[in-house]
Amino acid sequence: MYGLMMDRPLLISSILDFAERFHSATEVISREVDGSIHRTTWGGIARRARQLANALAALGVRAGDRVATIAWNNHRHLELYFAVSGMGAILHTINPRLSPEQLRYVVHHAEDTVLVFDSTFTKLAALAASFGVVKHFVALSEHAAASAEPGLAGALDYDTIVQAASADYEWPTFDERTASSLCYTSGTSGDPKGVLYSHRSTVLHCYAVAQADTLGLSARDVTLPVVPMFHVNAWGVPYAIASVGGKLVLPGPGLDGKSLLELIEHEQVSCLLGVPTVWMNLLGHLHAVGKRLTTVQKITIGGSACPPSMIEALEKEHGARVIHAWGMTETSPVGTVNMLLPKHALLDDAAQLAIKAKQGRPVFGIELRLIDEDGEVLPHDGQRSGHLQVRGPWVASAYFRREDAHDPAFTDGWFDTGDIATIDPDSYMQITDRAKDVIKSGGEWISSIDLENAAMSFPGVAQAAAIGVAHDKWQERPLLLVVPAPGKTLALEALRQHLETKLVKWWMPDAIEIIEALPLGATGKVLKRELRKRFASYQLPQ
Ligand code: AMP
Repeated sequence: MYGLMMDRPLLISSILDFAERFHSATEVISREVDGSIHRTTWGGIARRARQLANALAALGVRAGDRVATIAWNNHRHLELYFAVSGMGAILHTINPRLSPEQLRYVVHHAEDTVLVFDSTFTKLAALAASFGVVKHFVALSEHAAASAEPGLAGALDYDTIVQAASADYEWPTFDERTASSLCYTSGTSGDPKGVLYSHRSTVLHCYAVAQADTLGLSARDVTLPVVPMFHVNAWGVPYAIASVGGKLVLPGPGLDGKSLLELIEHEQVSCLLGVPTVWMNLLGHLHAVGKRLTTVQKITIGGSACPPSMIEALEKEHGARVIHAWGMTETSPVGTVNMLLPKHALLDDAAQLAIKAKQGRPVFGIELRLIDEDGEVLPHDGQRSGHLQVRGPWVASAYFRREDAHDPAFTDGWFDTGDIATIDPDSYMQITDRAKDVIKSGGEWISSIDLENAAMSFPGVAQAAAIGVAHDKWQERPLLLVVPAPGKTLALEALRQHLETKLVKWWMPDAIEIIEALPLGATGKVLKRELRKRFASYQLPQ
């Protein structure tokens, strides 16, 4: 017997409708490519999204077509988020840091019909034009300069086509399982793999992330997602903030500490989201100018492990609550979020910090399990680490246009994340490594994240990365690479003594090297493969 409830599809357009109807005057602020600040409202975004849908339809965009973007976090990108998916087409957000070969691959693979780009990325758009796949190019700003580029002579001006279009548009209704957006994930080898989100998965994820004990998004907050809109739908924040009708502040290209602080102070931002490297830069800037964050109440940190020293600095010195979260492109992305349980309230700071450093507990909708090398399910004892697998209604079931290929990552209805983790009896999951970054010493695994966190708790260490280096006897031994904080000289012997208080003896790095900077990928993650390449012939002291 079926229930007798209305079968209304979960569609992205309904989120924008809600924001327009009930939070029309709430502001959406963004930094333009030229650094100026643009102000609009949810009402303005909704109106322009309808105009954009008409404009795209006039260009021939039909349901299921892919519309690509290479753009910063700004109001035009936000309009595209809602208009493209809302009209039944698929928003393909392209990461501007893809190599030319990867760009060629994804544009061909997705068969993008329209490509919309911020002026910063004109050269990339021109390169894409040379592939002969995309029919229409649309410049989000500085149209004259863009159309002077070879291959982009016919590029359209975004604001012109939007303003010329009617705002009279009714969002179509269709099956909620229809594809809504596409994001390619680039692994270390092989071609990028496309994760194809649906309206249903996006709306369910949107409900989940907004919850009080997830990211706790609210109309009473001013939210600034630093996490890029070109990667995993900016953690779903654009949809979720619209669904609660909150004020949204978009940082455009201004991701440095100074630009962020300006926006935070000027717009009274209370809720921030981003990867640890962004907060490291912001903390560095705050320190340099002798300022404190005064309006920020919570900062969600994910994408890579948040060092406990960063949690401490943000909470103790700046009065912000840190929410450590884990997820990936294939999981929309939010999978686990770290909130203390009521029973933890009376623990001392150090014990609470040890819990907060973990990646958190599953969000309702997400199931986790650990398996060993033989595929056996491991207990959640907080001790045994294994391959982390996940399933849920916003987890990918296959990669785009590889549905029939046998992919071992998708087995028995679970997705193998490629992460190695432990899960404790309270269900706090802790990532110890990416499977490919694990340091294998004498048949045992050393967690590079634990080593890095230990190093970063030493004053004067800004960043750290541990990698495995070949060793005759032990197969691999850890080499620790540290980046000193600006203006600091690191005393390696003192660092070594500090590590000895934090790590078991056989986890101690065999060598420590000071380097100027760590290589970072487009989404702020340390590129360990580049470090391994650079230190491939490193001679450890035997
Ligand atoms: P991506 O699909 O590019 O967003 O990368 C997802 C990967 O980032 C995950 O599989 C993890 O390896 C890593 N990651 C994400 N969040 C965290 C976190 N809080 N701690 C450690 N690693 C993380």
